[in-house]
Amino acid sequence: MIIAIDDTDSREGMCTTYLCAALMDELKEYGNVIGSPILIRLNPTIPYKTRGNASTAFEIKTENPEKVMDHVISRVEELAELQSEMTNPGIVFIPDNDQERVKEELRNFFLKAVREVLEIEDAKNLIAELGLPSKGLKNGRGLIGALAACGAMLNPGWDYTYEYLAYRERNAWGTPREVDEESVRKADLATYPDTWDTVDCANDLVVCVPHAGDPVLFGIRGNSVDVVTKTSQMIESEPVERYMVYRTDQGTDLHLIPADRIADIRDMHSYTIEVTVATEPETIRGGHTIFSIQDEHGDEMDCAAYEPTKNFREVVRKFIPGDRVVFSGSVKNSTLNIEKMKIVSLEEQYESVNPTCTDCGKRMKSAGKGQGYRCKKCGTSADSAEIVKVGRDLETGTYEVPPCARRHLAMPLVRCQDKKKEKEGDGKIFPSR
Ligand code: ATP
Repeated sequence: MIIAIDDTDSREGMCTTYLCAALMDELKEYGNVIGSPILIRLNPTIPYKTRGNASTAFEIKTENPEKVMDHVISRVEELAELQSEMTNPGIVFIPDNDQERVKEELRNFFLKAVREVLEIEDAKNLIAELGLPSKGLKNGRGLIGALAACGAMLNPGWDYTYEYLAYRERNAWGTPREVDEESVRKADLATYPDTWDTVDCANDLVVCVPHAGDPVLFGIRGNSVDVVTKTSQMIESEPVERYMVYRTDQGTDLHLIPADRIADIRDMHSYTIEVTVATEPETIRGGHTIFSIQDEHGDEMDCAAYEPTKNFREVVRKFIPGDRVVFSGSVKNSTLNIEKMKIVSLEEQYESVNPTCTDCGKRMKSAGKGQGYRCKKCGTSADSAEIVKVGRDLETGTYEVPPCARRHLAMPLVRCQDKKKEKEGDGKIFPSR
């Protein structure tokens, strides 16, 4: 039987993945937990999310499905942060006999939950139509994520990575985390690029340790169970109550919808689109860099590298109108928030300079407002400035935001590099590290 749970946490505490790990342990008395649990990230623009819009699922072989379901429901009722307005748990079970029958429909639901905006009724209707055992608490919004996680579990064909999550002992929840940063940096150096987003080198930040009141101590992301486990074991920290390695859609770009034109783009979705830079980037109060992009049909929209993207903004600020770029990112308030970008071609840039003297070869000086230019030494003159081509301090190729600003679902360029090594014509890749 597949068991999927979502929406059990609040900003103050708990974490759905912790509940999943704890249940996997507790349910051993009723059967055998098989395979890796999954941690899927769904549409990153959904406003109801607590942090990263995660959902979880695992599979158990049991002779006692009724007992297992009762146990899961009562533990979620007990441990979920039900007092928080934002917490609306959902649990979905897929009995062994039903798995083949519901597989295809739930695959589609999973992909929709990653890319589209769904209603609670969409999940409730599909659960009723398929006749699946489930439990929604409060408004039951978590049924969306739980049903999506069942779809992911039943259709393992998606691209995936792994994350090792270490959890804190209960008495430490809500207190500052004790993780030795030096050991984290060493562990990271030992296994990067097979692990990523442990340390943000450019911004000198350890990014694998969260700061909220939840039970996660640290999370290590990487290519295989072995490498995330090895890296985690090198980290010195306060006592770890338990850990779990999840198979996940993190770092896969599964959320990106290819778009041909700006008119097709909607808020709360994430896209990849090739466009032309239409205006000079401007940095507004708060440090956000904003400019306009245009497609072949003449439609325009705003594009942004927000302040949290830190040093990435320095690249974006070098754009000039006419640059051709494929942008990837989520759209909110009609603005595309850049996650990564492939610069396809750069517009030629010119600047006006004082003309050179035909006799001595030195630059002439202005002869006064509206009076052209003159060489004081030779007496030569010119009416207008010279227009010269200047080199662009920017290269074509693919760039990304640093780890401290990365969306869970966004594929790090070190991963793209690996996957696309043999593909011709992909151009140069500039991983943030
Ligand atoms: P954490 O990362 O700490 O586990 P969270 O960020 O995952 O927290 P949730 O508490 O799970 O946040 O809240 C997200 C809510 O949004 C869930 O109820 C989930 O069912 C719902 N949801 C997920 N994907 C979609 C979607 N595509 N459309 C509408 N609702 C969605």
